[in-house]
Amino acid sequence: MSLEPARDFVIVGGGTAGWMAAAALAKCAGTQQRRITLIESEAIGTVGVGESTIPPIQLFNRLLGIDEDEFVRETNATFKLGIEFVDWRRVGERYFHNFGLLGADLRTGVSFNHYWLRWAQSGGDPDQLRFSAEAEAARLGKFGRTPGAAGSGQPNINYAFQFDASTYAAYLRRYSEKRGVIRREGKVVDVRQDPETGFIDAVQMEDGSSIQGDFFIDCSGFRGLLIEQVFKAGFEDWSHWLPNDRAAAAPAERMPEPAPYTVARAREAGWQWRIPLQHRTGNGYVYCSSYISDDEASSRLVESLGGSALADPRVLRFQAGRRRASWVKNCLALGLSSGFLEPLESTSIHLVQAAISKFLDFFPARRPDPALIDRFNEEMRFQYESIRDFIIAHYKVTEREDTEFWRYCRHMSIPDTLAEKLEMFRARGEVKPRWSDIFSEVSWFAVLYGQGLTPEGYHPLADLMSEDDLELTLSRIRSAIRQKVDALPSHGDFIRGCCSSREMSAA
Ligand SMILES: Cc1cc2nc3c(=O)[nH]c(=O)nc-3n(C[C@H](O)[C@H](O)[C@H](O)COP(=O)(O)OP(=O)(O)OC[C@H]3O[C@@H](n4cnc5c(N)ncnc54)[C@H](O)[C@@H]3O)c2cc1C
Repeated sequence: MSLEPARDFVIVGGGTAGWMAAAALAKCAGTQQRRITLIESEAIGTVGVGESTIPPIQLFNRLLGIDEDEFVRETNATFKLGIEFVDWRRVGERYFHNFGLLGADLRTGVSFNHYWLRWAQSGGDPDQLRFSAEAEAARLGKFGRTPGAAGSGQPNINYAFQFDASTYAAYLRRYSEKRGVIRREGKVVDVRQDPETGFIDAVQMEDGSSIQGDFFIDCSGFRGLLIEQVFKAGFEDWSHWLPNDRAAAAPAERMPEPAPYTVARAREAGWQWRIPLQHRTGNGYVYCSSYISDDEASSRLVESLGGSALADPRVLRFQAGRRRASWVKNCLALGLSSGFLEPLESTSIHLVQAAISKFLDFFPARRPDPALIDRFNEEMRFQYESIRDFIIAHYKVTEREDTEFWRYCRHMSIPDTLAEKLEMFRARGEVKPRWSDIFSEVSWFAVLYGQGLTPEGYHPLADLMSEDDLELTLSRIRSAIRQKVDALPSHGDFIRGCCSSREMSAA
């Protein structure tokens, strides 16, 4: 087996996934001894949505060495402290999935949520979010990068971004081209494979030229031009658990003061997002076409924009599931070509980032080691499945029975892996995620508790603290959080202070 590293990378697709891959390869593998070519077709275009993210994106920005204020300004971004879920458990109820920690690390080996459960079960305030700086700041429309006080066990405010998908790809394109990535405009119409090994040798362009490479990254979107159409990796369909298969998306005018969070409002046949950006508000109704027509979903969306629409709704189609293998021979699929769950917890861009990080770690030889490929695919399978379970939980754990869609969700069967987690949570308020799970115990707690699953007990070691100490500890944490949040500026003022875009400054 040749250990000579791959030198010639060809990325097919210039959506978010393609330009994220180009930027990371240019930064980490360099273009001195490697050639990185990205092919995109303006005629085909990109999916053009994907605006809400989760906190690990900060790591990706750090990997690229991006200046965060510049990034926020140029992508018309806002800061995101979590997601507000409206009408999910019952119509009229809401809860918040907060980023960051709950409470503080008490350095006892037992998570804070168990102490809080003990307290709440004996009559304390049933709103655990009073112990989340992110949730409190979101409630008050505040934001800042204030660090936690040293030695307090209090973390920094944890956040992600909400940005304009098209300007994000354009931003990464500028970054990549500056670092030597070659962009080729045009349509890939065919693929040349080595007749003996089946490895891809080159892609054939519509204008008759061909582009050769050692390694091909398929970022061609849902069509999976290489991974599916050439390698027939296969698709694992999860639509029986995640039945939403369409989204109607429409931008609306900007909010005068953009909220530092995404809103996910449950609707009759799915849910609706509202993502406040600096220059506009992104909106979309994600729905299941068996329960509502495109026209009806589009008009429901338009009726509820809460501001003037800037364009007519655009309907996108998708199917929840994942490619059985993301990496086959000398081809890696990233982004929509490797699978899509649905946008409820804003995880797709994260999955691109996670696959890129893993790929850099597993950086291949010209003829990659099959054991390495198997391991990669196994790890990505785990990531997809754990996110899948988390998203399904939002639909399954509900008291809603008011429409056919919600009756289906409430009574559908669920994966055994999720059933186990729900049982554990019911018993003592924890699901024990594995270290490589994207969603931590805090996230599971926020969502399952918010959806109405109330734990019967808590961790037995949480009883070791005396009642007085527990009261004192909780009240100290609560006032530390209040102090921290009180000191924050409003989200709008924070942006105006360091990272407002031209559009926001002009507004
Ligand atoms: C309704 C909806 C909402 C979403 N919301 C979120 C969200 O809030 N957060 C999040 O993280 N993710 C979200 N996503 C997912 C997110 O949009 C995608 O993960 C992300 O945009 C990456 O897309 P992509 O680059 O894989 O594909 P695309 O954007 O589809 O890009 C495909 C690229 O391949 C090129 N191409 C295709 N065929 C050829 C060819 N033959 N020759 C040359 N070029 C070709 C196209 O021109 C294009 O450049 C959402 C997705 C949907 C559908």
